[in-house]
Amino acid sequence: MRTRSKVLIALVAVLLVVGLAVRSRQAAIGESLFARAVDARVGRDATAGLPDGLHVALCGTGSPLPNPARAGPCNVVIAGKHIFAVDAGEGSGRNINVMGLPLGRIEGVFLTHFHSDHIDGMGPLMMMRWTAGTNTAPLPIHGPPGVDRVVAGFNAAYAIDDSYRTGHHGPKIAPPSGAGGIALPFALPGPGTGDRVVVLEEDGLKVTAFRVDHGPVKPAVGYRFDYKGRSLVLGGDTAKSPTVIAAARGADLIVHEALQPRLVGAMSRSLAAKGSANLAQIMRDIVNYHTTPEQAAEVAKAAGVKELVLSHIVPAIPNSFFYPAFLGDAATRFGGPIIVGEDGMMFSLPAGSSEIKQTRLM
Ligand SMILES: [Zn+2]
Ligand SMILES: [Zn+2]
Repeated sequence: MRTRSKVLIALVAVLLVVGLAVRSRQAAIGESLFARAVDARVGRDATAGLPDGLHVALCGTGSPLPNPARAGPCNVVIAGKHIFAVDAGEGSGRNINVMGLPLGRIEGVFLTHFHSDHIDGMGPLMMMRWTAGTNTAPLPIHGPPGVDRVVAGFNAAYAIDDSYRTGHHGPKIAPPSGAGGIALPFALPGPGTGDRVVVLEEDGLKVTAFRVDHGPVKPAVGYRFDYKGRSLVLGGDTAKSPTVIAAARGADLIVHEALQPRLVGAMSRSLAAKGSANLAQIMRDIVNYHTTPEQAAEVAKAAGVKELVLSHIVPAIPNSFFYPAFLGDAATRFGGPIIVGEDGMMFSLPAGSSEIKQTRLM
C-alpha cells in the first residue's frame, strides 16, 4: 500500500474515533460550551468603550413583510451617555438584547407613527427594559398625537403580565411603578409652517421631530439627532419628501426607508395570478407612500448628507446577492456611500471628528 493511502486510512480512523468520543460525551461537551458562551455574552455592554459622540445601531431593518433576517423597524441611538430607541417593531427588543445594548438603560422611545410594524415590539421592549434595569418609573414614549392611546393600550394589555412578574420575582426586582410606558405627546406646527419641533434637549443633545409624507397616515414624523457637532437623521416611513430633505440638510448620516417597486411589482403580479386579489392590491397600494432606493439617494444628495443607510427594506430580500436588484441605479444619484442596512449594524459618529465608522454588534 502506498504511503499516501496509509496516511489517509489513519486519518479517517482518527476522525472516526474522535467523532465517536465526542458523540458519547455530547451532552457534557454541550453543557460546558454553552456555559462558556453564556459567560462571554451575559453582561456584555456594547456601549462600554464607545467614544463620546452619536451612534446608531440598527435593531430592526425589516417591514411588515416576513423576513427571518430582519426584525421590524427599530433604531437605537446613543448620544454620549444617553440611550434611546426610535420605533420598536416586532423582534427588535430581542435584537437589542443580542446586540449587547443595555436594554435597562433605554431612557425613552421615539415613535415615528402608529403603523403596526413600528409599534408591535413595544410590549416586549417595555417589559425587558423594566426588568433588565429594575426601573422604578415607566418608559417615556414620545410621539405625535395618538401616542397616548397606543401606550394606554399596551399598558392595559400587559397589566396582567406585569402583576405576574412582580408576584413571581418580588417588588424589589420588578417594582410595579416601573412597568409599562408613559406617553409624551408633542404637537407639530401646521403643514408648511416649519414642519418641525424640538422634542428633547439635554446634555448637548437636541432631538427634532419633523413632518414626513406618509399619507394617508397622519401624523407621521422623522427625527433628527444633533450632538456635539454630529448629526443623524432617521426618516421614518415616507414618500420622497422635501420636508425630509430640509430636516436632513448637512447631516452626517441619514437612515432612510426604501421600497423597490420593481420587486414589489413581481409580488403583486404573482399574487394576482394565484388569485390573491386583496394582497395583490395591497402590494400595489404600498408603493405610493414609500421611497425607492433611487429616490432615497436623491434625498441624500439634495440634503448634502455624507452617508445613506437604507432600512425598512421592502420587499423581503433573502441575502446580499439581491442588493443590486434592490438598489437599481441609486449609486448614480448620490456620490456618498449607500449601505443596505442589516440588523446588528452600528454606525458611529465620534464627537470632534468627521469620521463615520461602521461596526457589527451581531
Ligand atoms: Zn408606515
Ligand atoms: Zn413601516
